[in-house]
Amino acid sequence: MGNTAVVVGGGIGGLAAAIGLHRMGWDVTVLERSPVLEDAGAGISLAANGLRALDELGVGGAVRDASRGQYTGGTRAPRGGWLTRMDGSALERAVGTPIMGIPRSALHRLLRERLPAGSLEVGTEVTAVEQVGPGTVRVDCGTTALEADLVVAADGIGSAVRRRVLPGHPGPVYSGSTVLRAITEHAVEVQADFELTWGRGAEFGHIAFLDGRAEWHAVLSLPAGTRFADPLTELRRRFRTWHDPVLALLDATRPEAVLHHDVNELRTPLPAYTVGRIALLGDAAHAMTPNLGQGACQALEDAVTLAAALGAESTVEAALARYDAERRPRSQAVAGAARQAGRMGQQLSHPLAVALRNTAMRLTPSRAATRMILRHHAWVPPSLN
Ligand code: FAD
Repeated sequence: MGNTAVVVGGGIGGLAAAIGLHRMGWDVTVLERSPVLEDAGAGISLAANGLRALDELGVGGAVRDASRGQYTGGTRAPRGGWLTRMDGSALERAVGTPIMGIPRSALHRLLRERLPAGSLEVGTEVTAVEQVGPGTVRVDCGTTALEADLVVAADGIGSAVRRRVLPGHPGPVYSGSTVLRAITEHAVEVQADFELTWGRGAEFGHIAFLDGRAEWHAVLSLPAGTRFADPLTELRRRFRTWHDPVLALLDATRPEAVLHHDVNELRTPLPAYTVGRIALLGDAAHAMTPNLGQGACQALEDAVTLAAALGAESTVEAALARYDAERRPRSQAVAGAARQAGRMGQQLSHPLAVALRNTAMRLTPSRAATRMILRHHAWVPPSLN
């Protein structure tokens, strides 16, 4: 069994994979192209499946301590009426935890702290990856090159490794939605931990953090590339008639904190997550729309499954075959469900369709809504011990 691995990309997926491989006795190097660890990004919600994966990696306790349990909230209409109520306590009883909200910067820091010393190289962009022998992969980074027994491509939705090893795949496409988000500058009085409000072709939501600040996001159905000269003013205009605390969250935000990205996804499922000794992981393998809050959770599941397979199988080839067989159906099903949730949620714009959806949601008992969520959250990780 080989024992050196290069992980391309130091995002949530790459860091988790490196921790997992290290736990299984592998010598790991993480190559991250960004020269500074600026920890950009707003907040993230972690469901039970992601938290259980973090537990296997030995980071779950620290992440929970830095997170806020999302006990109250749900889905609302723009004037404030509830469409569904979320019951964090019911989730906790069913899967051991409510959804947890954490700033991305805190999650990244906690993952980085678990890496073996000296294993993360920043400012190193991987330019080519090539299988040079039956058990060896060469990784080029401009002027230098490395050889390893295994390469984990965790280089995100725009993965250059994916383009190279699966050249026939069409790559990411625009989902139809663009998202603006930020963390408030200071604590904000919110009545519920977690809310999503659906209008016609628009969504506004927030997640509250432990320190009282909150992340908000606004999703709009607009052509790709749409940008606003003054995003906060534009959002105040678009959401001026929406319920509290939408405007309060915008008012508590510094203009320079607002991030704006088009939401892309890998709509055509990948035919394989492994090619030779190269494994694709996280958004590189299954970038999905954020409607179920599962992208990072699936990357964490990938990381633990890959490490466990390498620990359980007698050859790297058998471990990679197992990783592909276990991860592809599950993550692609979650990606499909996320796309569907987007179509039924924020992207729905015809007034009749919105009215029908809202009525159906109001009539759905909260226990049934919880059961639907549990379909994705109730994943049990393989053991890394
Ligand atoms: P990335 O985070 O994209 O990391 C890839 C890394 O690789 C980057 O650091 C990049 O710099 C580096 N890189 C790229 N190319 C190279 C190269 N050639 N050489 C070296 N390094 C390279 N998921 C959840 O679970 N819960 C949520 O609440 C949630 N909310 C979301 C909200 C929004 C608006 C969006 C867009 C996504 C959300 N997600 C959520 C999804 C989640 O953010 C992603 O699935 C997750 O961050 C993917 O992690 P990753 O490590 O696979 O990729």
